[in-house]
Amino acid sequence: MKIGFIGLGNMGGPMAANLAKAGHEVTGYDTAQVAIDGVTIAGSAAEAAKGRDVVITMLPNGDILKAVAAEIIPAMETGTVFLDCSTVDVDSARNVGQDAEKAGLLPLDAPVSGGVGGAQGGTLTFMVGGSEDGFAKAGPLFDIMGQKAVHCGPSGNGQAAKICNNMILGATMIATCEAFALADKLGLDRQAMFDVVSTSSGSSWSMNTYCPAPGVGPKSPADNDYQPGFAADLMLKDLRLAMQAAETADADTPIGAAAAELYARFVEEEDGKGRDFSAMLPRFEKRGRG
Ligand code: NAD
Repeated sequence: MKIGFIGLGNMGGPMAANLAKAGHEVTGYDTAQVAIDGVTIAGSAAEAAKGRDVVITMLPNGDILKAVAAEIIPAMETGTVFLDCSTVDVDSARNVGQDAEKAGLLPLDAPVSGGVGGAQGGTLTFMVGGSEDGFAKAGPLFDIMGQKAVHCGPSGNGQAAKICNNMILGATMIATCEAFALADKLGLDRQAMFDVVSTSSGSSWSMNTYCPAPGVGPKSPADNDYQPGFAADLMLKDLRLAMQAAETADADTPIGAAAAELYARFVEEEDGKGRDFSAMLPRFEKRGRG
């Protein structure tokens, strides 16, 4: 396929490289100077999008996505798949989807989980909103860039699935970290805590797969001085998107709101910026109730 790829950062760069390695003809564009193995760099987003079968975007936020969409939609031919893999707010995803559909394109919002490691290894999970037709056409590309793609319904539902998942993740990570810190203070050994909780009703991905305690459970960023992994800053971004969506939809999300507030404090007032989101554990360790 002829693929346009706009936004060649930490995630988009390796995703585009994997598509090129698999034999697709990839033309990329980024506002920063980048060089990606096997990818021809175009002079503008419109040039990267013109005449392609599929155009992929992997951008920082909804405003940038909307600006790029306004530039590339007129350049794309009817029937082209417009595959946005960025994490953005549900409203921006739906607005861009509507504009693209009006122009005769097949828009998909397909945010990912799996992080930079997943992008490099081609093992991302895609949560996809949009038409059956678009989903089927993009299928071979999901297979190269990822290990799983779930069709979640119409436009915007991919973003909805992503922020709901990450709201659960933020909340369970905080709960797991505060429970470890309480267990420490009660004199409970961390290994015993892991052995019990990981096989009991308190288990979760945060405990079992991504344990925030160093030296306990499977290898995780905790064992690498809390280098991300999944940065606390990105968790904060996703929690804020969840709160924005909850407000629009009039949904009551008290635990999500508490998680958003705590990650905001951690990243913006404490030492959380640039650290893995599981570094909440050393944060709680140092604190008392006051
Ligand atoms: P990044 O900042 O490394 O990459 C974004 C790229 O977009 C940059 O290279 C930037 O120069 C480029 N860009 C900005 N404005 C542009 C424009 N107008 N035209 C063309 N290029 C432009 O960010 P990232 O980590 O690659 O994340 C990309 C998206 O993926 C975000 O929405 C993020 O929330 C999501 N995401 C990231 C991770 C992760 O672990 N990094 C995990 C899941 C999802």
